[in-house]
Parts: sequence; C-alpha cells; structure tokens
Amino acid sequence: MPEIKTQEFSAASAQAMQNPQLQRALDRVGSGFDVARLNAIEEVTPEVWDQWRQEARDIKVHTIEHLDYYLDLLHTNVTAAGGQLHFAKDADQANEIVAHIARTRSVKVATKSKSMVSEELGLNPVLEAMGVDVYETDLGEYIIQLAEETPSHLVAPALHKSKEDVAELFAEKLGIPYDEDIYHMAATARTVLRDKFMEADLGISGANFVVAETGTLVIITNEGNGRLCTSAPRIHIGITGMEKVIPSMQDLATFLRLLPRSATGQRITSYVSMITGPRRSDDEDGPEEFHLILVDNGRSSMLADQALREALYCIRCGACLNICPVYQRVGGHAYGWVYPGPIGAVVSPMLVGLPKAKELPQASSLCGACREVCPIKIDIPRMLLDLRKKTAESPDDSQRSAPQSERIIAKLYARLMSSPGLLRSAIRFGRILQSLGKFAPFSPLTKDGNWIRKAPLPLLSKWTRSRDLPTLPKQTFHELWEQGISDGPRDE
Ligand code: SF4
Repeated sequence: MPEIKTQEFSAASAQAMQNPQLQRALDRVGSGFDVARLNAIEEVTPEVWDQWRQEARDIKVHTIEHLDYYLDLLHTNVTAAGGQLHFAKDADQANEIVAHIARTRSVKVATKSKSMVSEELGLNPVLEAMGVDVYETDLGEYIIQLAEETPSHLVAPALHKSKEDVAELFAEKLGIPYDEDIYHMAATARTVLRDKFMEADLGISGANFVVAETGTLVIITNEGNGRLCTSAPRIHIGITGMEKVIPSMQDLATFLRLLPRSATGQRITSYVSMITGPRRSDDEDGPEEFHLILVDNGRSSMLADQALREALYCIRCGACLNICPVYQRVGGHAYGWVYPGPIGAVVSPMLVGLPKAKELPQASSLCGACREVCPIKIDIPRMLLDLRKKTAESPDDSQRSAPQSERIIAKLYARLMSSPGLLRSAIRFGRILQSLGKFAPFSPLTKDGNWIRKAPLPLLSKWTRSRDLPTLPKQTFHELWEQGISDGPRDE
C-alpha cells in the first residue's frame, strides 16, 4: 500500500493553508464543480433529483444487505462471458494476482486508466519492481505520475496543480520547451501516450460499477484513454472494491444519471464503456483475456459495522469534497492517504485502522453540507460522530484523538456547566479578568471590549489564532431570567 500519513493531518493541513497557490486552486475548482452540480439539478428539477437520489440509495441499501448473493451472481456471469473473477482479501493479495498475470504472460508495458483502488493498493511500484513499464493515461493521473505525487481529489487528481506547474513539469520530465498553453500540453500528453497504448500488453482499469446480472464492468470517463486501455492490449484487468457491484442494467441507469451530474455537472460523461468478458471469436478487436479483481482490503469490517456500513454506498463522485469547508481549505494531500474529504475521513480510518487515522474524523465542522449534496444521501456527519465516539471511548490512551489536557478541560467544562453555583462564580471571576484585561499594556480585547483577540490558555489561544472570541455577555441568560421573574409576567 502507498505510504500512510493519516496521522499527520494537523501539521499537513496547517502547511496547506499557508500555500497560496493551493488555496487559489481549491477556490477555483471546488466552487466551479459545485456550481455546475447545482445547475444540473436545477435543469432536472430538485424534486426529480431527490427522487433519483432515493432510488439510488434504495438500490445501494438492498445490494449491500445482499452482497454475498450479488457477488455470487457476478462470479457466475463474468465466468459465463469468458472472463475470470478473482477475490483479493487485501492489498498484497490483489497486487500478487496482477503480478502473477503479468509475470506468466511476459508483460513488458502496462497502460492504466484512472483507478482509485489501484492507488489504494499501491499497485504501480509492485509492477515497476518486476520490470514492467506502467503508464497512467488519464491526463490528471499522468501529471501526478510524472510529479511522483498522489491524487488530491477523487475526480480531479491533479487539482492542486496550476497550468504553470504542469508546464514546468512537462519541460523537466519530457524534455520539451516550457509552454503553458493548456491545449498544447494536452496534445503533448496525447502524443506521448498514444504510442504506449500501441505498445502495451496489459491494460488496467478501475470500475465505476460492475453489473451482477450480466457480469459487465462499467467505466465512465471524459477522455478516450479508458477505451484504449481496455481494448488495445491483449490482456485487460479491471480492479475495484467489492462494494461496486450493482444488481442490474436498469439500476445502472439510475447511477448514470446521478454520478456525472454530481461530479462535474455533466448530463453524461463523454464515454460510458461497458465491458463484458474478453473479445469473442467474431470480434475485430478487444483483449484476449479479461480479469476482474474484487478487492476487500478492509471493506468486510465496514460491512460488519452497522454504524459505518453506509460508507460502502459511496460512488466516489467527489461532491462532498467540493462543498466541504475543511477540504476547501486544506486540499486532498493533508488527509494523508488515497481518499480525501468528508468520505475519506470515514473510509480511511476503516481501511487503514482507526489508531492510524484518529485525527481524520475530527476534520469536520459537522455542518452537514456533505450529507446534503451526496447523491446517495450518505449520512457522513453521523458516521464521523460514531468514529469520534470510538476514539473517545478507546481504553488505550494512545488511540484517543484528544490529548490528555483537552480531556481534562472538557471534564472541567462539563462540571462547570452542570453546576449553576460554580458557573456563576466562574462568570464573576471571568468578568474581573476581563476588566483587568482592558488595562493591560497590550490589551487582548478589541477597542469596543466585545471581543478577545488573543486568549491566554493553550486551548483558547488555538481558537483566537484565526478568529476572535466573544467576551462574556453583560447579562447572562440566568441573570435575565431571574430579572424577568422579579419584573413579573410579561404581557403577550
Ligand atoms: S460520499 Fe456521497 S458525495 Fe461523497 S464522494 Fe461518496 S457519493 Fe459522492
């Protein structure tokens, strides 16, 4: 698997917020996607959109509840179509299946269309170590492969790069003159990759969906690379998570309406490819072998957890990333692994283990925007709260997300708020401190005395580092309430 840096979220996000180029990229692309999504919903009307979302959710609930049945059906139909279905329990096993196929078929060159699961498995280094030349052919993936980076968004993997960054990268890695014209850069990538499609023995793809009733792998893309990867080489391997199975072609129609609109605001993507088995004897082209690898790699534990099972409904549209106030500020790399944003904050702890990703469920304001935009109505905030509860209740101190000092402060706060006498004394004491603050040489208060610019305690000073804290009110609710009683009942 690729290096897991999920435990470095705080430091990485602080760094990301200091990066002006990243901030510009996030502002531009995140809001652009969301406006396009909203326009697409307006076009079909919000009522119809909500009906589609409910249909999709019902399909996902049903499929995940009967996953064993649909995986069996898929197995039968992939085999009947002349393909081979492999189950991999973890990343090592999945990589070994691909490596075995490549080794025994003397594969020298492999082309890949976009696959987040292959990023999750860390497949490229495994093949490269065997001497196979691997080429990412989705333009965004190709850029980050050249840059030796990882994707920062589910739909737009190179979202964090400006056109100037890409021009510099192409000049350095491809030995061409610096040229920041986007069309010229796309044409360069096309020319380089066109030869690779012709040379490749093996094509590797992900899958947006796999249809159980026909054994069909479905990929939706905006570049023709997906079709070239899956049809030009003599072997095609599709790799995907086992939760991507859906029952029927009719169900597929529902998801094909939702996914492109939620991801990029398109009514439909440029290419919708449906692949059922290898080439038939009377086909003019297509691969001689078709393999589908279904990966578990922690998904069974998600399935077994009633509270978190819902995360398996995700169709990786990226809408929750584009709307999330945390993702919009820190970008994808801060999350430290393959799946960023609100859904990543749920999925990563389940796949890499909660102790390694205990900070991620805290990376949310719980505003609920992710749940509002999700085409499958996935209740991400509820799952984040569940994961927070799991970390808070862990018997192992090192697995808890909050440091000891914060936990003591939270306990003191709870004690204070549940004791009116203590609360009154604390407020009186706070007011004395506040009035003394006015006379301090560098007053921490604003001129009008209504806001604290720099709070003293470490926990509060974190808050005032990026925003002001309101001072204590002139009259508390208790005082107003008591005053109201002594003034007598009010006329309505
Ligand atoms: S959780 Fe929902 S909004 Fe987020 S990527 Fe998955 S399907 Fe899209």
